[in-house]
Amino acid sequence: MTARYRGHIELIPGEEGQPLCVVCGMCEKACPSNCISIGGEKPEGSKKKVLTSYRLDFTTCSLCGSCVDSCNFGAIRFSKEYNLASTRKEDFHFDLLKRLEESKQ
Ligand code: SF4
Ligand code: SF4
Repeated sequence: MTARYRGHIELIPGEEGQPLCVVCGMCEKACPSNCISIGGEKPEGSKKKVLTSYRLDFTTCSLCGSCVDSCNFGAIRFSKEYNLASTRKEDFHFDLLKRLEESKQ
């Protein structure tokens, strides 16, 4: 696996495994293929939004990198995932927040 290999994007975990994403929406806007759809909410008493969902439609992703380049918080990167195969489109609709949570277990 080369250092510059581009698999689908993934969320980068912080020190405690939490997403570094601040729900600014820049990656969503930067994507020319509308692959990214994020959701967030402000918990009561907090000034910052918390990420509640980060969905990627990998069926139309061109791996252009605009989303990664647009993130000023170092919150997303290309994964090293290379072994994807399925005959069902739905299998390429990823819930990246769920994936991050599962990777902690
Ligand atoms: S640009 Fe970065 S911080 Fe902003 S919503 Fe996307 S991943 Fe999160
Ligand atoms: S790599 Fe390009 S096409 Fe794929 S999700 Fe990011 S901005 Fe969209």
